[in-house]
Parts: sequence; C-alpha cells; structure tokens
Amino acid sequence: MKLPIWRSVDELQRPPEPSRELGAEAPDELSRRGILQLLGASAAMATLGGCLKPPDEKILPYTRQPPEVTPGNPLHYATCSTLDGRATGLLVTASEGRPTKIEGSPEHPSSRGAIGVLEQAEILRLYDPQRLKVVQYQNQPRSWRDFLGATLAIARILRERGGEGLRFLMEPSSSPLIGHLRQRLIENYPKARFASWSAIPLQQIHDGSQLAFGGVYETRVDLSKATVVCSLDADLLSAMPGTVPNMKAWAAKRDPSVGPMGRLYAVEANLTVTGMNADHRLRVKPTDVQRFGLALLGRLAGQVPLLARYAPLAQRFPLHPRDARFADVLAKDLVRAGRGALVAVGPRQPPALHAAAHAINSALSSDCAAQAKPVLHEMDAGPRALKQLAEEMRAGKVDTVVITAWNPAYGAPSDLNFGKALSQVPHSVYRSLYADETAERAGWVVPALHPLESWGDARAHDGTVTFRQPLIAPLYAGAGEAEVLAAFLGEGDRTSYTQLREFWKTTAPDELTWEKWIADGFIDGTATRPETVLVRHDAILAEAMKVPPAETIAGMEINIVPDYRVWDGRFANVAWMQELPDPVTKLTWENGALISPATAAALGVKQGDLVDLGLRGPPVLAPVILAPGHADDCVSVSMGYGRRSAGEMLCKGLGFDTATLRHAEGHWFGPGLTVTPLGGKTRLAQTQEHHSMEGRTIAVSTTLRKLKETQEELAGHRGPPLSYHAPQEYPGHKWGMAIDLSRCTGCNSCMVACQSENNVPVVGKDRVWRSREMHWLRIDRYFMGELDN
Ligand code: SF4
Repeated sequence: MKLPIWRSVDELQRPPEPSRELGAEAPDELSRRGILQLLGASAAMATLGGCLKPPDEKILPYTRQPPEVTPGNPLHYATCSTLDGRATGLLVTASEGRPTKIEGSPEHPSSRGAIGVLEQAEILRLYDPQRLKVVQYQNQPRSWRDFLGATLAIARILRERGGEGLRFLMEPSSSPLIGHLRQRLIENYPKARFASWSAIPLQQIHDGSQLAFGGVYETRVDLSKATVVCSLDADLLSAMPGTVPNMKAWAAKRDPSVGPMGRLYAVEANLTVTGMNADHRLRVKPTDVQRFGLALLGRLAGQVPLLARYAPLAQRFPLHPRDARFADVLAKDLVRAGRGALVAVGPRQPPALHAAAHAINSALSSDCAAQAKPVLHEMDAGPRALKQLAEEMRAGKVDTVVITAWNPAYGAPSDLNFGKALSQVPHSVYRSLYADETAERAGWVVPALHPLESWGDARAHDGTVTFRQPLIAPLYAGAGEAEVLAAFLGEGDRTSYTQLREFWKTTAPDELTWEKWIADGFIDGTATRPETVLVRHDAILAEAMKVPPAETIAGMEINIVPDYRVWDGRFANVAWMQELPDPVTKLTWENGALISPATAAALGVKQGDLVDLGLRGPPVLAPVILAPGHADDCVSVSMGYGRRSAGEMLCKGLGFDTATLRHAEGHWFGPGLTVTPLGGKTRLAQTQEHHSMEGRTIAVSTTLRKLKETQEELAGHRGPPLSYHAPQEYPGHKWGMAIDLSRCTGCNSCMVACQSENNVPVVGKDRVWRSREMHWLRIDRYFMGELDN
C-alpha cells in the first residue's frame, strides 16, 4: 500500500490547492532602515573591497591550491574556526585580500573537507557592521592603551594578594597556547581560579565517562564502521561534538555499491536531523530516554554474557508494549552487529545513561566507539561551574572577573541570575564580538577579533593541532583571547602572532617547518590516540539502580535543544542563519513551541496559537508549531532567541528566550511544565508549504530491494525533461550537478554554501511569510504515513 507523503499537518488535513503562495506580486513598503538592516553584512561583503588591508604578519597560502586557481585569481588559505573549543579545518577563498568563501580543508585529518552551516556563517559574521568596534569602559569608548593601563594597575594589586578574588570565565578551549597562558597566570596568581562556560556543555558526557572508566574520556565515534547504530537522544548528524566527520562517514555508508548500508535506530523526543535519517524511530518524553536505555541494557544482559549482571534493569524499567517491542528488536540487532554495533548518547542525557552505553559498546567490542582523552582544558563547562562562580560573585568574593566565554548573562539558566551578579563585581573585563547582554553589564568590554582576522591554535575533535591564520587585517579595533590574558601578565603589547610563534618555537625552531604548518593549517600526526580503558560495571549498575523506575511527577515536560541555525544564540545576528529554514520545522526568523498534534489537540491549540510556557518562573510567550513525530506530553523549544541587547539589532526581539525555562539543576529538560493557551495567534514564516507542486508527485521513496527488483517508481521520471524551450545543442564541456538523496541528511549546508557563493540576499520574515525567500536551493522535508504514527 502506498502511504501518503505530506509536508505539514495542514497539507495532510487539506487537499492540495493550486497554489499556496501568499500576498501580492509586488512587495509592499519596506523602510530604508529595514532594507539596510537586512542587507547589512552582505552589502559590506560585496562592497568593502577598497577599504581592506592584509594582516601585518606573513600569511601563507595553502600548499595544494585547487587546480582552477590561476595567477590573478583568488587564493586559498588554510585556517580554522572553533566552536566550544573544537577546531574545524577551513579552506578560505580570498579575492584580492578579501575573504569571500569558506570551504572545508580537504587535507585536515579530522573533518577532511567537510563543514557545516555554522562554519559557513562565519564569513557573513566577519563583515557584520553591527560588530563591536571600539574598546569600552562603562559604555564609553576607550582605547586599547587605556585598557592596558587600567589592567596593569589592577594586576599589581591582585599580584600582591596572590590573585585572591581573581576569576577567569573562559570559552571552552583546547588551544595549546591558551593552555600555556593559563599555566603562567596560575603561577603569577596562585589563588586565582579558572572556570569555563558554554550554554551547550558536555559536562554529562564527561561525568558519564568518569563513572564508567574512573577517568574522563571522550568517545570517538566512527560511523564508517557501524552497521547498527542506536542513537539515544544523540543528534550525531547535526548537533554533537564531531558532527562534521560523522556526517562524512555516514554518507560513505549510504552507498549500497560499496558495502551494506548502516541501520539507524533513534530514540528521541523531538524530531532531529538524525531522527529524520533513522530507519526506525521511537518518540518518547525526554526523561524517558534514560529509562529506555537502561531497559535496553537489561535486555542485552540475557544475550551478552559480559552484561549478565545488568539483568535486574529489565524488571526495574518496564516499558510500554510499543517501546518494549522496539527495544527487543534493537537488542537483537545490536548483538547481531557485534563489532559493528554502536550505542550513542546525546550530551543532554544524564551520566548514568552515558555509562550504560559505554558498558554496551565495550561488551560488544564495538569498533565504532574508541575512548580518547578529551581535547578541552576544562571538563566542567556547564551550569555547575557557573553556579559556583555566581555564588562567589554575589558573596563579594570576586574582585576581578575576566570573561572570554560567549555571553553568559544571556545564556545562563535564569536561576543563576548571572547578569546581576556580574554587575556587583568591582572590576570586570569581557571580550566579545558584539555589544551583547553581558557587555551591557561588564566594566571593560574589548571587541573580539573574528577568526578570519586573528592568529591562534586549537585542537580538532580528534585532537589534531590546527592553526588559525588571519586573511585580513582587523576590520575594527579588537584583541585575541591570548592578548587579553597576556595583559594580566603585563604583556598586553605582545600580539597573538608573537605569542603563538614563540610558543611553538620549541617544537618548530626552523621557519620551514613553521611555514608548512601554517600553509597546511595543521600539524600532521597530533591526533590523540585512543586508549584501552576498563569498564567499571559495578559502579555503572549501582548508579543505574538509583534512577527512579517511573516518572514521579506527572504532566507536561519541557525539552530544550540547541538551535540548528543560531546554535546557543551566538549566530543570531547572522542574517543567513535567520533566514535559513530550520531543517526539521522549516521555520525562519524565530523559534517556536513544538508540540505533537495529539498533545495540541488535548490542549485545544492549533498551529500559530500563542501559549504561555511556565516552569518555576515567569512564563514565556511562544507560538505553537505542530510537530509530527514529536513525543506527546512535552514541548520542545530551541535556544538562542529572545535577544535583548541593543548591540545586535538584527536579532533583537526575534523569538523568545528560554532562560526562564532552564535551571541550573535542569538545564535541558524536566517535568512540571504548564502550557496556557492565550487565545491569540501569530504568523509564522515557515517555508514548508512554499512552492506548491500543483498536484504533482512531490517525492519518491522506495527500498533498495524493490528498486533492484522493479524500477517502476522511477518510470515516470525517465525520458526527456519537459521544457518550454526548443532543444539546443551545447558543444564542448557540459556541467551538471547531482545530489545523492540516499546520502543527503538534510543538514542545509548546501543552502548556505550557495547563498555564500552567490551572495544571495535575505528578504526578512515578512517576505518569507509571503513565499518571497530567494534561496536558490531548497531542502524539502516530507512526512510519510499517518499523522499519529
Ligand atoms: S545535499 Fe545539502 S542538505 Fe543534503 S547533506 Fe549535502 S549539504 Fe546537507
């Protein structure tokens, strides 16, 4: 039986109409201010040519220039961008000294030429005219010299006190240079303390490995060896550490001509990019993912002798009959896959579940999950570390705080009240690309240099040392993280380049080696090696037995997720990211409250209805998005919206902030949510129903076996394409582009790449609502089957 294919709940419930495009052909009035805001960085990127200059230091083009490069044409440079401390190798095109396009560095051992949407977005962020342009003290413009003078005076006093009252709140970092600076700062200020903060922390991954192995390790997933993958809330293909190499390995497994295709099971609350690619998917409330995983371990106990001790878990965590069938089949498939089996757990899930996955992977001798030492300097970069710092700040124990982490006043859970605590610290320094919510409360604010303007180093996900070289002199006044830290050592005049070169001099004393590293963008052979670690089964079982067997608080749950477009909010002022449809909901320019159709019906709300979401704090106003495939009795919301600072005008006021729904003890999900319909409605700029197919087949889906037996599904797509134009001969070279939809994960990278390559403009929320978005590429997402399946 052919199952219906549909794009949205609306489309399923209404017969297709001839055309859904909305609004008049001619655009209505748009203010000059609005146009300039939307053009913003795109216009700067296209027009700034004459105002730019190269960096002062010698930069080195990539050693293996792509063949199409000829003298006078663009050059390519290897460099990197970092996200939460992990580097991705980049190859950046520069036309006459102006960076114009970011690609992946093909030789980089970790990412091997692949990048995602966030790396692509960096090019527009570089040219954003709303970036912070001058050093500020108490919101008044100052110079870098003023900052250095003030820092010297504070540093002298702090040194006399041995650093008592000095705190550093850093971006998670793997940089060898920053590690060295931290060490020197501690030597100079023995009582100073370092903490790291990220709104998307990996704390639970690290805690899970501590529980399982008695030490902190990170799992290096290798999807190229996986034949059966179980994802427990692990968005392996879009929002996890190592996503970029994962996607490449996953794509390689999707070609049936080179070997068996991998089978993917996903257990999750909200439909993710990974869930969209799963062969089998189970939707459960977020707090039930852990119970499902432990029940799965209990089932494996009967089939894998090394796991026999976990048998009591099967009784302790009884599953709903539907979930139990899923778990039974999955357990058998994992055992059958043996070394090709992989159980992956997402960073939002508790340590006990991570430890359970380690136990399974280890017992099955999985070739797809190796353990290696983490690349980051600080393991604890979540609310736990921030809570301690906020308490010290409130208690008056902090005299000076230096912040290089991204925007904690916005990203911290609301119960920490970090912004207010920061206002109480006598001396504060904040380094930032924008005058954001934290900048508004800090004393000194130093503009950050963009990655394409600055020197530095970091380790990639596999540990490979990767270098960052600037392609352009800073567009605005600014400083690198190393320069701000060096200011507290009385060395603020030493540029990042001087520090970097000197630090690596012991390893690369000669210029030739150094120049090769910079030209390549990385040091070959520096990936951290996987280690053999023993699993502490007794500790894992003891922790698993402490997990409550059933939900103790009935009712709705909140489920907070990173946003596919703006991440934790740091890309919110990039217009491309705002107009990029979310890969699952196809929503642009805001976030929404994702609710399953069944739960929405029970609540009496429809698409676009406004609701108040409440959880132990002031309620949040959010529009409802009906989300097929979403678990019942919970609401998913993404981070990064509801921005308030005047320094980021493009994103100010878009969507809603999730801070009041997040708490230090429940950063990601939890029970107790109230959903109150308010009676109002809003207009959502969702692209999912745009560009009607006028009744034609919108997607073809079949199995490999069927395709081999009979090709009837393809029959209608063969033959000469229909065209208004007379056939024409094209002599010489012909170019074509094909996308293998079996490998496509729907990640959206090609949409941003196209926008970046062709400088395609954005049109704004109102015009997207009228189907006037200008993307040349469109990634569609279809549902198949019945609504409540
Ligand atoms: S075709 Fe586009 S959406 Fe699909 S995987 Fe490639 S980049 Fe991502």
